[in-house]
Amino acid sequence: MANQYSKTKLQKFKKAIEQKMGSVSNEVDTIKEGLGPASNKQGGVTPDSIYSVHMADAGTDSHEQEKNFMLMNRGSDYYKNLEIALERIAEGTFGVCKICDDLIPEERMMEVPNATKCVGCKEKEKLGLT
Ligand SMILES: [Zn+2]
Repeated sequence: MANQYSKTKLQKFKKAIEQKMGSVSNEVDTIKEGLGPASNKQGGVTPDSIYSVHMADAGTDSHEQEKNFMLMNRGSDYYKNLEIALERIAEGTFGVCKICDDLIPEERMMEVPNATKCVGCKEKEKLGLT
């Protein structure tokens, strides 16, 4: 029988992940709203208009926009990872190291819900020992 977190623990993880998903999607929405008016002001976001604004006034606005786009992308990547974590909970592979089959510590799974390897295996992999 492979290692696995108990149903109660998994329920707890699931709740924590769903909470995170809620706050991430709120964050992304807020950023999107922030992008809306700014792009209207520039008469729509085309590569040309971003470029010309950038050239015209040292690009304070478009610089800010670039930053927001970056945050938005990072937010949606994170959201995808959380979705994957939920799938793993459903599959029963959540929190189990796919290399050594050991349980990944709870606090690590809380911090990085999409982790698939324990710290030991990850370190080994980094050093090229796997
Ligand atoms: Zn491992």
